[in-house]
Amino acid sequence: MADAPAPGSAPDWAAFAMACGACTRCGLSSGREQVVISRGHHEARLMLIGEAPGATEDAQGEPFVGRSGQLLDQLLAEAGLDPSRDIYLCNAVKCRPPDNRRPRGGELAACRPWLDQQIAWVDPPLIGLLGATALAGVLGVKSGMTQLRGQWLAGEGPLLGGRLLLPLFHPSYLLRNPSGAEGKPKWLTREDLRGAAERLRQLTASL
Ligand code: SF4
Repeated sequence: MADAPAPGSAPDWAAFAMACGACTRCGLSSGREQVVISRGHHEARLMLIGEAPGATEDAQGEPFVGRSGQLLDQLLAEAGLDPSRDIYLCNAVKCRPPDNRRPRGGELAACRPWLDQQIAWVDPPLIGLLGATALAGVLGVKSGMTQLRGQWLAGEGPLLGGRLLLPLFHPSYLLRNPSGAEGKPKWLTREDLRGAAERLRQLTASL
C-alpha cells in the first residue's frame, strides 16, 4: 500500500505523485482512470480544496478542468487571481466517485493523509474550502455552508493552526444556480474571492 511521505519531510512532489498515484486505500481506486492530485503553484499562498474529481478531471488528471473548473477559473480571473501563480488547487478525495456521488466519510478519511501532506508542503496561510464536502472533510463541520461562506475561520491543531480557512460555494453548485444577481450564490462567491484576493495582497505586501 502506498504511504504519504513522513510529516515534516522536505517536499518531493514527484515521489508524492508516484505514491498517491498508486494508492488503493479505498474502494474508489477500482473505478478511477487516474488519481487527480493538483494543479496550480506548489508555493501558492492560497490553497483551494474541493470535493472530488469528476469525469473530465478523471480523464485529464487535473482538478477543476471541467465545466465547474472553467467557471471557477473565470471567477478567479475576475478577482485578479491567476491559478498558475497564486493558487494551489486540489480535492479532499483524489479519485472519482462513481456516478459523481459525494465521497463517503470512510473515503474522506482514507484520503486525508494525502491532503494533509499537500497542506503541510504547500504551507498556505489561506485555504478556501469549496463546498460542503470540503468543509466537512477538512474542518469536520457538517452543515451551515450558507451561514459560514465568506467568513474566515481560524484553523486549529498542528496542521491547521495559524491558517485562515474560508468556506466557499462549490462551483458546481453555482452552475446549478447561475444567476449573477446581487445576493445570489454566484455574486456572493465573486465577492468572497475578491476578499480572498485582497487578503492575499495584504499578506504578500507584509512579507
Ligand atoms: S480516493 Fe484517496 S484514499 Fe482512495 S484510492 Fe484514491 S488516493 Fe487512495
